Amino acid sequence: MAFTTELKEAARAAGADLVGISPVARFDEVSAAHHPCSIFPEARSVVVLGKRIARGCLRGVEEGTQFQIYAQYAGNWVPDRFLALTTVTVATFLEDNRWEAVPLPNLPVQAPPMGVSVRPGTPPPNVMLDFDEAAVRAGLGRFGFNGEFMTPQFGPRQRFQIVLTDAELDPDPLCETSVCDNCRACASACPLGAIDGDAVQERVICGMKMPVAKVDWATCNACRNGAIPNGLHPSGRPDRVAAVCIRSCIHHLEQDGLIENALQTPFRRRPAWQVDRAGDVSLAEEV
Ligand code: SF4
Ligand code: SF4
Repeated sequence: MAFTTELKEAARAAGADLVGISPVARFDEVSAAHHPCSIFPEARSVVVLGKRIARGCLRGVEEGTQFQIYAQYAGNWVPDRFLALTTVTVATFLEDNRWEAVPLPNLPVQAPPMGVSVRPGTPPPNVMLDFDEAAVRAGLGRFGFNGEFMTPQFGPRQRFQIVLTDAELDPDPLCETSVCDNCRACASACPLGAIDGDAVQERVICGMKMPVAKVDWATCNACRNGAIPNGLHPSGRPDRVAAVCIRSCIHHLEQDGLIENALQTPFRRRPAWQVDRAGDVSLAEEV
């Protein structure tokens, strides 16, 4: 217990906004191609580290006047600079205490297997974890109706990295309550009809059931409402946090007091802009 507390304190001191720990046993239902033990067979704990995306870096997209701030800050600085330093600090802390620590960046889990297996029974050498599912297993939150992972602190506004370790750490409990209140503002806000509220599927992780709408990912990949295509692999999911669907969700979560990190002023102050399939721009009828 004391070592786990020290580890979390080190992570927070190194800039983590969120720290969750899952025992590797919570990955029993995961295939070898996405299992932590395919990378580190002796792993006992999965440490999920989260860093918030500041609400303000979405402002330029929300106003429709500046898109690069979000792309640079949330797409590069938060994961590859700030959070990467936190991750290496946590790995160093573990190895200073003589536990092996494997730091993992968040790679697109939709990418197909690549390369050849080097031992019988092992998967090809591009094993990738689903970080959002790992965050569920580490107790940091749950999936919302729109398919995004959401925490009670920041809703969908965070990035994750992971450290696998052979240290047996104290696990966090699963997050039993949902941030998403099923308001469906995300589906209403999508001008391309990509979130199908009539085709709700159940995502089940560690026995926890999360209703998620069917999403037309091909449409999201081509969306010009603030979504960013995956830069690492063409089959990877786009980043939708800045898209009008998720920005509408962020506004709703703050207005209805559903997340802790709500600011003093509302996120949405003017009707949202939207681009339809023909490329025509219009404004929503109301805020
Ligand atoms: S907009 Fe409403 S229904 Fe959609 S994910 Fe957010 S809280 Fe859930
Ligand atoms: S990313 Fe674009 S197409 Fe996909 S749900 Fe959001 S607004 Fe709709």
